[in-house]
Amino acid sequence: MPATSPAAARSRTLDACFLGPYGENDTLLEKLVVEFLRDHVYWRRNFHPEDPPAISTAAAAHPDYQAFEARMRRELHQLSAALKKSVPFHSPRYIGHMASDLLLPGLAAQILTLPYNPNNVSEDAAPVTVDLEVQVGLQLAGMLGYAHDPRQPGCAFGHLTSGGTVANYQALRLALAQKAFPVALLAAGVPDLALPEDAWQAFNLHPHAATALLVQWQAWLAQASPGERRRWQARVQGERLEQRGLVGFFAAHPTLKVPKVLAPITAHYSWSKGCKLLGLGRAQLELLPERGMRIDVEALDATLDRCLRERQPVLAAVAVMGTTEYGTIDPIDAVVAARERFAARGLGFPVHVDAAWGGYLATLFREVDGSLRPRDAIAAEFAAFPSPGVYAAIAALGDTDSVTVDPHKLGYLPYGAGAFVCRDHRAMALLAEEADYVFHGDTPQDYLNRYRSLGQFIPEGSKSGAAVAGVYVTHKVLPLDHAHFGQLPAQTIRAAEACHARALRFADEMAGVVRAVVPFAPDSNLVCFALNPVGNRRVAAANAFVRRLHDELRIDPRRPLQDKQFFGSVTTLRPEALGGTETRRILDALGLDPATLGEEGGDRLVILRHTLMNPYLLDHENGISYVDRYFDYLAGRVQALAAEAGPHASDARDTPGALRA
Ligand SMILES: *Cc1c(COP(=O)(O)O)cnc(C)c1O
Repeated sequence: MPATSPAAARSRTLDACFLGPYGENDTLLEKLVVEFLRDHVYWRRNFHPEDPPAISTAAAAHPDYQAFEARMRRELHQLSAALKKSVPFHSPRYIGHMASDLLLPGLAAQILTLPYNPNNVSEDAAPVTVDLEVQVGLQLAGMLGYAHDPRQPGCAFGHLTSGGTVANYQALRLALAQKAFPVALLAAGVPDLALPEDAWQAFNLHPHAATALLVQWQAWLAQASPGERRRWQARVQGERLEQRGLVGFFAAHPTLKVPKVLAPITAHYSWSKGCKLLGLGRAQLELLPERGMRIDVEALDATLDRCLRERQPVLAAVAVMGTTEYGTIDPIDAVVAARERFAARGLGFPVHVDAAWGGYLATLFREVDGSLRPRDAIAAEFAAFPSPGVYAAIAALGDTDSVTVDPHKLGYLPYGAGAFVCRDHRAMALLAEEADYVFHGDTPQDYLNRYRSLGQFIPEGSKSGAAVAGVYVTHKVLPLDHAHFGQLPAQTIRAAEACHARALRFADEMAGVVRAVVPFAPDSNLVCFALNPVGNRRVAAANAFVRRLHDELRIDPRRPLQDKQFFGSVTTLRPEALGGTETRRILDALGLDPATLGEEGGDRLVILRHTLMNPYLLDHENGISYVDRYFDYLAGRVQALAAEAGPHASDARDTPGALRA
């Protein structure tokens, strides 16, 4: 027997993490569900055992009862049957969107908590899970590199949301509150504070300076007499943007323009929704040019220079850690550096990282003691990850102002679990529904007490305490460092690297049939693949080819699920996001004529997109690589489709100008 290697030891922990592709861990889950359901029932019975059962023990024999049960069973069976058409996220044959199997600790904790039905809007409705939510915020803060000890005055704070979309709204809300508050202090003329000189300065402070001013104001209030305190609070409140609304606030400060949100072209559409929701308007979302699907740092600088020249405030600069379409990671470090440079020149703005997808990759960067791992130590486990750029980006997370992370994506938890985390919790006072100016103090108990009325601070009202329990227990069972939770993202990175290598081999082997390229090296665990039948020069025809391929790789409710061999997804490459040079490079490698870009059906390039998050893609138990199997399958389909498409492709070749404008 060979000695147990660390890799083998690792994989055995992972064995217990999920229900499994075959439902291998069914007994474990069943045991947990039954055990804790019984436990819940005992809890009910032990509340006041002297109360007699309200439902008669003979009730189940009554025809009405039986009719109800029959109807319920019938509907449940129909539902269960219909759900068999669901997308098989659990299967290693599923490499489409950002979904996979669910972590057992989270699933079990959520099922266990559901019958207690805690409502995390406040501790009155969730005496247990509201504390867990605050703890989850601290767990995530530690993963990101924020201060996460509530005894530290500038400790981070995080809470759950229904998803990344709402977490991104929360980031916009906080950014707006932080920019506008110093203006309100100035307008109210609060004495004794080190106030900025004018509205422009007040509106464009460095986020740290804005928080410092808020803390000063609170200290000032604390020493004022109760009457004075009430008077000044009311006066400042009357000047706040939250009181006046955008229209009233900007009318009162005609020197200020409505601020812009800077986000990369590849940003998720929640940013557009958020700008509309806040009443800023879609026009206030300025999309930053990119280079190879990552923020172009020079273009960011140029944009900020222009903003400064035009006295155009910036609400926030958004960097994406793991773009939804390509998994690429923006140079967060460079965006933070830009924040410092421009704040020094009078254009302050916060940096928000949209890590809804990529957030949990940060576990790979954390030692068990919470410190940052050196790049070499991480790189030793992988072929190419993390690139120096990716390492610098993730290492800089702790210097950003807020982050969105989705436990229901790379956290492998059920939907309804996004998270918003801000670097310094003191800014959250600005979001409180009831004026909450004075801090309780600097002990962990004060911090907890403050956030027990969570509904004061969050965008939502009533919300699931069960979802919170799922996230909390998962983070306890698998702490957010490389040795524990990190095993999961490590597995996905390995699968993505295997996929990348296999895609390159596919391109070689299939050179006679299709030209195939991986358009850019993956930053994380998404791998894109562009294909064009040999001989075709037109983008629109290549797109039609990839779309036909994708038709075979997606759910078709009219056909039995078992007919499907594999699931993939598609996305598009837009010249605006790629930049001119990259676009030409990729089209050239595919043998496509750039002049056909812009024809009907060809304004962007359609490519295959693969999300390699299933933990069993590389099945060591049976020596199967589902990545290899997928590419074998793809080769067969490409050959068949290219044979069909052949005549059209050569038509296009014979009449190169015919379809051009
Ligand atoms: C998924 C995603 C979102 C939106 O999150 P939801 O949980 O779907 O609301 C936002 N940003 C990025 C980068 C994402 O990947």
